[in-house]
Amino acid sequence: MPNQKTPPNIIAIDGPAASGKSTLGRRLADALAYLFFDTGVMYRAVTWLALQRGLDVRDESAVAALAEETSIDVRPPSQEDGRACDVIVNEDDITWNIRRPEVDANVSVVAAYPGVRTALTAQQRRIGLRGRVVMVGRDIGTVVLPEADLKIYLDASAEKRARRRYEEIIARGEKADYDEILQKVIQRDRIDSTRAVAPLRPAEDAIILDSDKLDADQVFERVKELCE
Ligand code: C5P
Repeated sequence: MPNQKTPPNIIAIDGPAASGKSTLGRRLADALAYLFFDTGVMYRAVTWLALQRGLDVRDESAVAALAEETSIDVRPPSQEDGRACDVIVNEDDITWNIRRPEVDANVSVVAAYPGVRTALTAQQRRIGLRGRVVMVGRDIGTVVLPEADLKIYLDASAEKRARRRYEEIIARGEKADYDEILQKVIQRDRIDSTRAVAPLRPAEDAIILDSDKLDADQVFERVKELCE
């Protein structure tokens, strides 16, 4: 059990798209000198590869085979361009490719395939069990690391999350349409929370925080208190 001197060894942060999980996880990992591991990048990497290879993302067995044979390397950031980590597949740096709109549009379909989840969950669990880790995703507290010492579920309304995503894209100097982003957020939530395997939901012992009511600093302070 964590006490005042020892922060929780394994910290799980789950929640829907753009709820602020990555910002929180990154800050927390920095503060504790822990590994930050955003598991969404693995589902995104498989989706990007499938699209690159011209696979039909509705072809479950082909996509699952791709997930099984692909080794996705997530390393500390090699460049200061806003990235939280490097995502490398077959020596290619695909860190920014996996943020493209076509990946956003297809990743939830890919992440719903049981074969894909089995392959990626095993890799995530192996890394998480080493400890001193802040792991972020949809099913960390429920499936990947149910033994996590601290489980946070970060929630927010779809409107607030779409607004956040919209502002991130505009800040990168790209074009964005708020209504379109909102529709996509709602669609991704629906697929993520209704899939048969590892649906998005808070673990029974998760602490639920609502980032509609708390800003990023307040969320961080609250979680730091929980760590103490
Ligand atoms: O967090 P992010 O938006 O990058 O995740 C992309 C997608 O990957 C999610 O919409 C979800 O479908 C999937 N995902 C998942 N389980 C995780 C992390 C991400 O199903 N642990």
